[in-house]
Amino acid sequence: MTALLLLALSAAPLEVRVLERDTPVRVHLEAARITCDGKPLASSVDAEAGAREVRVGELKCTQVVAEDGVAVTVKETKRKYGGQLRVSLQGGLLRLINVVDVEAYLPSVVFAEADASKPAALEAQAIVSRTFALTAHRRHANAGYHLCDLAHCQVYRGQGASSGDAEAAVKKTTNQVLLIGGIVLKPAFFHAACGGHTSTAGDVFGEDATGSAVSDVEDGAPRCKGPDLAWTFEVEKNRLAEALSVAPNGIAFEPLKRDSGGRILEVRSFGRRFSGQEFLSKVGRAFGWRSVRSLKFSTTETDTSVVIQGAGTGHGVGLCQLGARALAEKGVDVKGILTRYFPESQIKPAP
Ligand SMILES: [Zn+2]
Ligand SMILES: [Zn+2]
Repeated sequence: MTALLLLALSAAPLEVRVLERDTPVRVHLEAARITCDGKPLASSVDAEAGAREVRVGELKCTQVVAEDGVAVTVKETKRKYGGQLRVSLQGGLLRLINVVDVEAYLPSVVFAEADASKPAALEAQAIVSRTFALTAHRRHANAGYHLCDLAHCQVYRGQGASSGDAEAAVKKTTNQVLLIGGIVLKPAFFHAACGGHTSTAGDVFGEDATGSAVSDVEDGAPRCKGPDLAWTFEVEKNRLAEALSVAPNGIAFEPLKRDSGGRILEVRSFGRRFSGQEFLSKVGRAFGWRSVRSLKFSTTETDTSVVIQGAGTGHGVGLCQLGARALAEKGVDVKGILTRYFPESQIKPAP
C-alpha cells in the first residue's frame, strides 16, 4: 500500500511547453483521442488560433486535448509525444503543453544532452536531468507550466527523438535522483564543459542546489577536453560598450570578484558594475551565445579592442558533461561520476 502510494506521488506528470519557438498559429493533430472542451473529435484534426478560441473547423474550443499516441505537426516540424498535448490560445498563438510522465520525458533529454557517451555518462545525465525536472516547478511557474523544451531548461523533442542507449540509461536509473545527505531534494544542474573547475549554483545564480565547486583536472589538464574547452573572442571596445549600453570611457573590463572556480561574479566595465550573469547575457544577446561561452575568462586590452580568452562552455554549475564522458570512458561508474560533481549528495529513489 505504502509502496503504491509512493509510486503514485513520484509519478506526478510534468507540464512542458513545447514548440513555442515555432510560433504555432495552426497545427495538425493526430491521436487516438482528441477532444474540444471534453467533446470527442476525429482522430486527425487541424486546430488554429481564432480570435478568442482555438478553432477546429466550425468549432470554437477553450482547450483541445489530444492523448494516446499524439503526433503534432507545426509548419515543417513533426513531433510525437507521450501523455497528453493540451492546446489553448495565448497572445494570438497556440500554446502547446505536453503533460508527460518524467520517465517518458527523459529519453529525449538524455539523447539530446549526452548522445554517444558511454552508458555510465548517460546514466549520470539521466539522474541529473530527472533531479532537475522534478525540482523545476518554479522555472516557468508564472507562465503556468513547469519546463520549456529548450536549452533554458532541458532540450526535449518528444517521443522517438531518442536512442536505445538513452532509453536504457533512463530505464536503468528509473526514479533515481540526487538527494543532499541522502534526504533533501534540491535542483541539480549540468553544463557542457567546466574548463577545469566547477562552481556552485549559489555563487553563479544565487540559487540553492546540489553541486559543489570542485576541481575537474586530471594529469595537470582539465578533464573536459575538446572544442568546448578553450576559446577566444575579440571585440572592439566601442561595440562592447554598445552591447552593455554604456559610454566607451575608461577600462573595458575589470573583474571585481571571482568564485573559487575562477568564474567572474562581478565586473566593472567602462565604469559600470555588472554581475557576471548580466555581463554574459548582454554580450550573448549582442554577439551570440558562442562568443563569450562561460564566465571563466581573462582579458587583455589594446587601445581599441578587448581580447577575451576563456575556458569551458556553459555556467559551470553541477555536472560537467565532457568531464563525465571522459570519466565514463576510463571505466568510472555512474556513482563515481556523480560523487565527483555532487559530493554532498547520494543517488536515491525520488522522495
Ligand atoms: Zn525553460
Ligand atoms: Zn570539466
